[in-house]
Amino acid sequence: MSARKIVVIGGSAAGPKAAARSKRLDAGAEVTLLQKAPELSMASCGYPYYIGGNFDERNALLATPTGVVRDESFFAAAKGVKARVNTEVTSIDRRNKTVVCTNIATGESSNIEYDKLVLCTGATPRRPPIPGIELEGVRSLSEMRDADKLRELVDSGKVKNAVIVGGGLIGIEVCEALSESGMNVNVVEMLSQLLMFLDWEIAKLVEKHVASKGVTVHTDNGVAEFLGENGRLTGVKLNDGSVIPCELAVVAIGVVPNAKLAADAGIKLGGFGGIAVDEFMRTSDPDIYAAGDCVEINHRITGKKTFAPYGDLANLEARVVADNIARGNKCKFPGTVNSGICKVFDLSAGATGLSEQRARDEGYEVVTATNASPDKPGFMRSKLLVSKMVADANTGRILGFQCVGPGEVNRQLAEAAMAVMNGNTIYEVGMADLPYAPPFSLAIDHFITTAHILDNKISGQMTGISNALVKEKLDAGEQPFVLDVRAPDEFDEMRLNVGEKLIPLGKLRNSLEELPQDKSVEIITFCKISMRGYEAQRVLEANGWTNVKVMEGGIMGWPFKVEI
Ligand SMILES: Cc1cc2nc3c(=O)[nH]c(=O)nc-3n(C[C@H](O)[C@H](O)[C@H](O)COP(=O)(O)OP(=O)(O)OC[C@H]3O[C@@H](n4cnc5c(N)ncnc54)[C@H](O)[C@@H]3O)c2cc1C
Repeated sequence: MSARKIVVIGGSAAGPKAAARSKRLDAGAEVTLLQKAPELSMASCGYPYYIGGNFDERNALLATPTGVVRDESFFAAAKGVKARVNTEVTSIDRRNKTVVCTNIATGESSNIEYDKLVLCTGATPRRPPIPGIELEGVRSLSEMRDADKLRELVDSGKVKNAVIVGGGLIGIEVCEALSESGMNVNVVEMLSQLLMFLDWEIAKLVEKHVASKGVTVHTDNGVAEFLGENGRLTGVKLNDGSVIPCELAVVAIGVVPNAKLAADAGIKLGGFGGIAVDEFMRTSDPDIYAAGDCVEINHRITGKKTFAPYGDLANLEARVVADNIARGNKCKFPGTVNSGICKVFDLSAGATGLSEQRARDEGYEVVTATNASPDKPGFMRSKLLVSKMVADANTGRILGFQCVGPGEVNRQLAEAAMAVMNGNTIYEVGMADLPYAPPFSLAIDHFITTAHILDNKISGQMTGISNALVKEKLDAGEQPFVLDVRAPDEFDEMRLNVGEKLIPLGKLRNSLEELPQDKSVEIITFCKISMRGYEAQRVLEANGWTNVKVMEGGIMGWPFKVEI
């Protein structure tokens, strides 16, 4: 019997994984990997850090942990895979089970037969038809050559002003890279916030931090036109009519799946324009599988199809494909909870599951808790985290978790992602046995504390109010009694300046006459992180006040201006 022919199209993340594992599982198979780009197995997630000068060795983006560049000869020798770069597949003949490909360098065309075909064609950055988008200086970041060009511009020192169009993950990472390399950076975002996977008030903390680094952020504003002279970019005109002079613009407003090759071959697409696959990652043709940014997958909470272009998912999906080709369709890919994280200068910001807004849009009745607290004991040089947990009000099931801060955001999100995927409730998470020692966490870890806050809220022990709602009330002219229970030196250092009264927690029990004597008046308590704010609420309620609320997250979670 002749060797089984497995052909994989696309050689960056999903493709090489599918090809290499297919060969590992079926040593007798003849595995061919066809890649349009000149490189293989590029670490595209590392491009912003290369551009920003975190490291100088370009090949580090292409190398194994031991420093061997993953090129055609590496794939042949180490993986037993026949890889061909600069090779674009231009059509698929499903009836004769062949693909037609063109060598981009020579123009030569050839046919390759397959028994099983895997589509890993990835996605392409959106380039909307904004006037001037073709000007030299308007770039995207998707391929290695884009990273090369941006690094070259950084190294040249010639670009002084850059505009990032789009405040998503890639936009923010590129913003950091260019800003840290000395450019004057503006970020333009059409929506009212950066990082749409966060709720507004958490995203505003990120925006504040980005602005503190000298970057100008324009939300609720889009690009009307790229302006130029002699074919070169000179500025960006925004929808509000303002003009930002710049020599470089990076458009990072999302990606669209590369599904045309599949569609032209009559393979079904889904509602987002990605290739439709079943739980075994099979397309509508049972001999053709697909993985990575070109497909649509299930959302594990909503059960709906979604487009989730993430590098981790691309690799996991590709593993499933290889297993199913080798062992028959037994391995199911369960889908995504949309976990994502990015570094934002000295902060990290990320989320897993549904935001409050998204959960409400999906029809859930939700309860939320915001928790500002350290990641470790103070004596271990703790750093602050601000998190928001979203749960189903009826069952306590955790639907989502967001976290921002200089501390260990990644660990919090990893814990949360497992809980969200497993359908855990706040009560289960609230009793989770996690490893603890002072260098790593608090005795009750931040994530667990967030579940406890939510438990306190649901049981009625704590009445919380979001900072956004407090601001809304103040802006609307309502006059809640705002009570700051921090110490005077903390107050001197930073205050909300909204007419708040300062009574340190330790003095509160003896200062009750300074509070409104109508016990039904709305009182909003807070401190740095609202732990003392919560104590204050308990004190006031024990003394008969009936309408006391804790401003969740305290002054550290306050996304608006503070007085310093
Ligand atoms: C700057 C940047 C930062 C990122 N950061 C993160 C991050 O921090 N975390 C995260 O999870 N994800 C991140 N991502 C996303 C992640 O890189 C992608 O999800 C992942 O690369 C998808 O892998 P893929 O194999 O599906 O597609 P791709 O990596 O896009 O690879 C597809 C390959 O297919 C080739 N191809 C396309 N059509 C053909 C054809 N017809 N014939 C032959 N070859 C073809 C292309 O040349 C391409 O190399 C980032 C992406 C970028 C660009």
